[in-house]
Amino acid sequence: MLNLGEEIMQRLDVIAGYSKAGPGVSRFPFTAEHEGALTLLREWMTKAGLEVSLDDSGTLIGRREGSETSRTLLLGSHQDSVPQGGKYDGIFGIVLSITCLEYLKHQQLPYAIEVLAFADEEGVRFPTALMGPRALAGTFDPDVLGMQDKDGVTLTDALQNFGLEAENIVALKRNSDDILGFIETHIEQGPVLESKGAPVGIVTAICGIERWMVKITGRAAHAGTTPMDLRYDALAAAAELISYVENLCLETEALVGVVGWLNVVPNAVNAVPGEVDLSIELRSSTDQVRVNAGLGLKAFLQQLADRRGLTASSERTYSQSAVQCGGELSDRLEEAAKAIGLKAPRLMSGATHDASAMSDLSRVAMLFVRCLNGVSHHGDESITSEDAGIAADVLIRFLEGFE
Ligand SMILES: [Zn+2]
Repeated sequence: MLNLGEEIMQRLDVIAGYSKAGPGVSRFPFTAEHEGALTLLREWMTKAGLEVSLDDSGTLIGRREGSETSRTLLLGSHQDSVPQGGKYDGIFGIVLSITCLEYLKHQQLPYAIEVLAFADEEGVRFPTALMGPRALAGTFDPDVLGMQDKDGVTLTDALQNFGLEAENIVALKRNSDDILGFIETHIEQGPVLESKGAPVGIVTAICGIERWMVKITGRAAHAGTTPMDLRYDALAAAAELISYVENLCLETEALVGVVGWLNVVPNAVNAVPGEVDLSIELRSSTDQVRVNAGLGLKAFLQQLADRRGLTASSERTYSQSAVQCGGELSDRLEEAAKAIGLKAPRLMSGATHDASAMSDLSRVAMLFVRCLNGVSHHGDESITSEDAGIAADVLIRFLEGFE
């Protein structure tokens, strides 16, 4: 076993210093903190023997050539964080990849490799995200360039202040034929690997997502004077719907769902609720499972409203397809884990990643690393140096065996 874990953890500690003040790490795209992080990444990339450049979407690229082909395997993740986030989400996949390539610096590999440090995956500063991978995949929408942050700075101006030219972004599109694949290593951000006692796992698919807005209208009434059998309680109906969502997800494989937002009118201790608005979000690694679930809950809502004498409406407000990982890249990651005596379980990713957008360019695979208590997007986010070392070992064996 190699021991790169300590090195990776030290680097992550140092780069976490490039953050706005306050608890946790707050590093947003095209800011002084982003610039500081890039200075360190440039230094480490150079030390790993990589040719460094910054593209006009703000992606820092470290490249080494192959001995036999210029076709390129892409590695990497995102440098930005959520407000008061952790030290590992995103940046871990970049630092790990650079550290592995430093280890392989004097070893010839037949194919070219690039480490990509994307600027903006979280979408915290501007109401858009994934600009870097979308630029490479040719799915970048120039309309987002006019979007403003909360200080009224447009994305175009933020890029310009960072020394980048917005009009060059569409030309960053890569040719799929030149790309061998994209491997993103990322902390799991959930409790599955920890519950299985596994340091690393391989992602089967990045979940598709759909969101519904539901309105249930009953009749507000006095909670003392209105007999139970004469009520039209919108919140009691909503409670049934919430249980339905929970049970449906418990009973359906590869489906998770939540009612995370609720608005009750009049929302008073002594009033029968007359109106409830709520959101339902469904995620699944299989689009058909998710779509069927959504249609099922729409039908249930109608039956529920009819049975209780209420009116109800529902609208699907958002939908995003699942991205399948799997395939040869995942099988090779699994073999690399096996070679160091590890069984890497397969699991789905409930969160979106750079790999989602990269899937429009090439095949993608993700290696997940166990995190403490499944905590992420918080300063308490934590992984061990042992697990970081194991992930490095898996990636190095993968790269050595890849052709
Ligand atoms: Zn992330």
